Amino acid sequence: MTIHVVGVIGAGTMGNGIAQACAAAGLAVTMVDISEEALKRGVATISSSLDRLVKKEKLSAAEKDSILGRVKTSTQLADIANADIVIEAATENETIKLKLLRDIDGLLKPEAILASNTSSISITKLAAAVKRSSQFIGMHFFNPVPVMALVELIRGLQTSDETHARVEGLAKQLGKTSITVRNNPGFAVNRILCPMINEAIFVLAEGLASAEDIDAGMKLGCNQPIGPLALADMIGLDTLLAVLEVFYEGFNDSKYRPAPLLKELVAAGYLGRKTGRGFYKYD
Ligand code: NAD
Repeated sequence: MTIHVVGVIGAGTMGNGIAQACAAAGLAVTMVDISEEALKRGVATISSSLDRLVKKEKLSAAEKDSILGRVKTSTQLADIANADIVIEAATENETIKLKLLRDIDGLLKPEAILASNTSSISITKLAAAVKRSSQFIGMHFFNPVPVMALVELIRGLQTSDETHARVEGLAKQLGKTSITVRNNPGFAVNRILCPMINEAIFVLAEGLASAEDIDAGMKLGCNQPIGPLALADMIGLDTLLAVLEVFYEGFNDSKYRPAPLLKELVAAGYLGRKTGRGFYKYD
């Protein structure tokens, strides 16, 4: 069964990006949010993102209109009942997601797939909450979705080969490259990235090198496009700390302990770019 109709739950940072990527690939999208305001903001974000592409002559004005025309919005879950796949990108809260997924499961046609964009909740646990467990999978997109080339596909214990193959096909249709990971805390990319950033914070706290030198070292010595401390400021130090705590508890392994300096900065309210100060100061 080919995928033509997509439901996206959540119109926030990730939801509107996922909706844009699907509509740009020619799919019919319905984006659902509990907040009318969030839906308006989501559509405005898609529109200005497409405007940038028109300005760069990567898209015609008519193409922009037809992409936007493929994105419907609603505050009612019932409006996604005809979807071939629903990608859940609502707030990262287990209670919210479990209720949402059960409600969606009851609405969809039997062959439809349910996917979640969660960054930290177990795909196996979410799959266990729905009846279509074998048709449940993690589709972890990266921010900003229209720009980032990767989708991490996370197979829960219950995910069938057919579901995985169909979602792999969808990722290709969206112009993305997918990698496949077995469910575990942090999946693959964040599991590698976040401890690396944490280690950079230990190196800084031990006074071994300055923040600027650590970042220059990883940029010039490892060809990373941005240094780990500057990246931490972009991610948000509170988000980074929360992810490391999930690893620390999820694996019961001291190698994931968050650097005390990270905790101290978060306690001070120095959360990175969003508060104007983290490892660096921002205007
Ligand atoms: P966000 O706060 O920007 O948006 C979440 C949206 O969900 C809000 O508009 C909210 O109104 C809506 N929502 C809450 N409850 C709802 C419900 N019951 N029904 C419908 N809509 C509901 O969050 P985000 O950053 O877009 O994150 C969404 C998901 O994507 C999370 O699971 C997060 O872990 C994951 N994720 C985020 C990033 C990132 O960089 N922000 C990257 C990868 C994955």
